[in-house]
Amino acid sequence: MNELFFTEKHYPLQEDVRKFLLTELEPIKNEINQNKKIPLSLIKEIGKKGLFGPLIPKRYNGSELGMIAHCMITEEISKINVAASVTRTPCILDGYLLNKFGNEDQKENYLKKIATGEKICSICVTEEGAGSNVAGIKTVATKKGDIYLLNGSKKFITNAGIADYYFIWCITNQNVNSRNGMSVFLVEKDSPGLTIENPYDLMGINGIYNGTLQLNNIEVSEENLIGEEGSGFKSLMATFNIERLTLSSESNGISLAALEDSKYYAKNRIQFNKPISSFQLIKLKIAEMATKLQAARLLTYNAAKLNEINMNITKEASMAKVFSSKTAVEITSEAVQIHGGDGYTDIYSVERYMRDAKFFMIGGGTTEIQNLIIAREELK
Ligand SMILES: Cc1cc2nc3c(=O)[nH]c(=O)nc-3n(C[C@H](O)[C@H](O)[C@H](O)COP(=O)(O)OP(=O)(O)OC[C@H]3O[C@@H](n4cnc5c(N)ncnc54)[C@H](O)[C@@H]3O)c2cc1C
Repeated sequence: MNELFFTEKHYPLQEDVRKFLLTELEPIKNEINQNKKIPLSLIKEIGKKGLFGPLIPKRYNGSELGMIAHCMITEEISKINVAASVTRTPCILDGYLLNKFGNEDQKENYLKKIATGEKICSICVTEEGAGSNVAGIKTVATKKGDIYLLNGSKKFITNAGIADYYFIWCITNQNVNSRNGMSVFLVEKDSPGLTIENPYDLMGINGIYNGTLQLNNIEVSEENLIGEEGSGFKSLMATFNIERLTLSSESNGISLAALEDSKYYAKNRIQFNKPISSFQLIKLKIAEMATKLQAARLLTYNAAKLNEINMNITKEASMAKVFSSKTAVEITSEAVQIHGGDGYTDIYSVERYMRDAKFFMIGGGTTEIQNLIIAREELK
């Protein structure tokens, strides 16, 4: 399948990324989940290696390798430990946002440091009363001279506590529809008035930092407004498309690992004096897992290719996310089944894959919301 989408630049990159991850991530992949803490040094190394930069131009320290390279890198990281990839994702998204909507000073001051992993990012949209309905956010930014005062709260924020830059979506004009009255600001971690907590554990993707932000009269210079005032909803929608492709690739990375582990286990587990892979019911599982995964990756790389040729991918990114995340949930459940009792223990990775996979039907816009988007585009 890669032959359809990869060119000569992708193969050596894939080889290099695999080698790097084998040394840096593979040895600690279980430790990350057991300790429920990803080492910041690992994330910095991934950044230093240039893996935050495929969507960032070279002049801002990116690698400019494009969306297909980004999806491939994301799959490779996610095959080993998806929590590492989920920690990288906000940096990719804020880098994309800043490059597309930021001004020259912001790119010089911030984007260059994001591209190399020197600074870690967070994308802050969700609130207690605004999850699927992002237009319902209540956090406000009130202009006072040449600063804004930010007040409100955010929930479920990935990288809360380890991020240097928090990109925070706020309402700047309460007199218009929030789609036209929303703006995004870059807030630095030590800003007075910013309180961060990590008050819960997660079902999966253990190792990521996720938490809440309280914003109490945070003073932000107007220089930290990204794009025009009122353009926050538009820039968020553009960023969501990239998020959906990233989360599709993360789902596919988990599925690739679950399928590989299942094939290995099925060939080596002997019951009734035969490897279980010789039983037709197990073969059917492997065949269906491989076919669904192929379809999920085709949808994802197809959307990535369309993005590289500057096509609108709103529908395609949602299709890829719906299908890839559902496929990951199905494949990882079958992987546990193929492993029998072993699959239900933490000695094997498949139980982790199954818990990790569920997140991708929720984060970045739920399956239900993606289906609404697909239907809206189809019915236009
Ligand atoms: C681990 C994790 C990491 C996250 N990271 C971030 C982050 O970094 N930044 C950030 O801003 N957010 C983040 N989120 C939040 C995530 O984007 C939201 O959880 C998600 O968008 C769903 O919102 P909600 O949880 O409020 O669910 P709700 O919107 O309350 O939805 C509840 C249920 O109702 C369904 N539903 C809602 N509206 C409709 C409708 N119109 N039609 C049909 N069904 C509907 C949903 O599909 C879902 O099944 C994260 C969440 C998690 C769990």
